[in-house]
Formats: sequence, structure tokens, C-alpha cells
Amino acid sequence: MTKRKLRSRVKRKLRDWKTNCWIPVVEQRPGSAMASKFSGIPVLKRGEDWPTCGQCGQPMPLFVQLNIDQLPPAAKPRKTDQGMVQFFLCTNEKCDTTHYAKKPAFLARLLTGEQLAQAASTRRRPAARIGPEKVIVSWRRRHDYSLCEAYLKLTEKELAAFRSSWYRTDGFPIWGDKLLGFANWLQDPDYPRCPICSKEMDCSFFQIISKCNLPYMFGDLGNGHILVCAEHPEQLDFRWDCY
Ligand SMILES: [Zn+2]
Ligand SMILES: [Zn+2]
Repeated sequence: MTKRKLRSRVKRKLRDWKTNCWIPVVEQRPGSAMASKFSGIPVLKRGEDWPTCGQCGQPMPLFVQLNIDQLPPAAKPRKTDQGMVQFFLCTNEKCDTTHYAKKPAFLARLLTGEQLAQAASTRRRPAARIGPEKVIVSWRRRHDYSLCEAYLKLTEKELAAFRSSWYRTDGFPIWGDKLLGFANWLQDPDYPRCPICSKEMDCSFFQIISKCNLPYMFGDLGNGHILVCAEHPEQLDFRWDCY
């Protein structure tokens, strides 16, 4: 079999385990409250105080916020979608940021387009901060693969062809901060259930890796996952895991 034929056969076989993800391209500088960014001052609901930790009561730094309007068009379920996905996490070492805690030490949410239209931020300084602010200025699209399942479908020869053609040194699913794609779990996947439809929230909306764009570690070099229900985009949750 020619190399080309082998490659196209591998491509065909991997189709079901392939998807797109987008890597944020950042500039280290402050952005407006409506910007997609890591750290800094978030947009807040009208009249809302800075979100605080359910355990220690301290303001939680903004880890990331993503303005749906500024996402790559192909990453948006509908062209007209608007809103802001936000993720805050308490960095107090005493607080339990896992979902086992009775009171959450994180907040993952969607501000609707309507809430955004009414929002105003008059803050000059963040109430809490995690590292320098980085504005997301563009996105780099990459193919992502969920290889655990895919490996089982490939012969040894096909796997070798795949590795030499597409496999990067960091492997798949892609390691790093990324929009959509497959979640890079270090332990068994741990998807929460949607409080509305009870289905597993197995869409990885955004992955945050230890020490990538933020100077923070989830446990021992763990990975954080902002997860969303496929049918209820306003239902967001968060999990992290490490070795
Ligand atoms: Zn706390
Ligand atoms: Zn749901």
C-alpha cells in the first residue's frame, strides 16, 4: 500500500475521534472588561459585587473570561450567540477547589447577552489577581484527537503512519490552554451531570493547564476543565485533576 493510501485510510478511521480546537494567542497587557482574557478585571452583572469564595469569603481572581462574540465563528454553535463565559477560582490554599466541597471555591458561569448589555465595570483594580493580565487577541485552529478510543481502531502500521504524520511531541488530546476540543484528563474522565437534563456535561468548553497562561498549579501540575452541557449552554461546571 502506498503511503498516501495508508494516510487516507488512517484519516478515515480517525474521523469520529477528530474535532477542532482553538489555541489562544495572547498579549500581556490589560484589556477592557469586555475583552476575552486571562486574569484582570471581569465584566460583572449590573450592581453585582466581585464574586467571593463560598468557603473563605475572599474575592476570587478571574482566571479566564471568553466573550462569545469574539470567538472564532466555527467555534460558535450559532452565529447570533452572545454572552461571556467566566471562570473564577479561589487561590487560598486552605480552600477545597474540588466539587467534593460542600460550598464551592470556584464559579463557572455564562453571562447572557442581555446581562452584558446592562453591565458596566467601573473598577480600576481587580479585587483579586492571579498573575499578569493577558488579552486573547486571536485563535489558532488545530485538529484535536481523542486517541484513547482511536488507538484501538488502528493497526500497528496505521498507528506508525499516524504518528509520523500528525503526532506532535505533546500528543493528543492537545495539551495546553484551549477552546473546545477534547479534555485532557490525567485520571479517569469525571463529567458532572447537567442539573436540568441530567446528561453528562462532556463538552470541554475550555481547558486550563497548570502554568500555561496563568501562574497557577491545579494540585501537582494538573489540568482544569470548564465543562458545559451540549443542550444547555448556560450550564457550566468545573473539574480539575492531576497525577
Ligand atoms: Zn476560598
Ligand atoms: Zn443539560
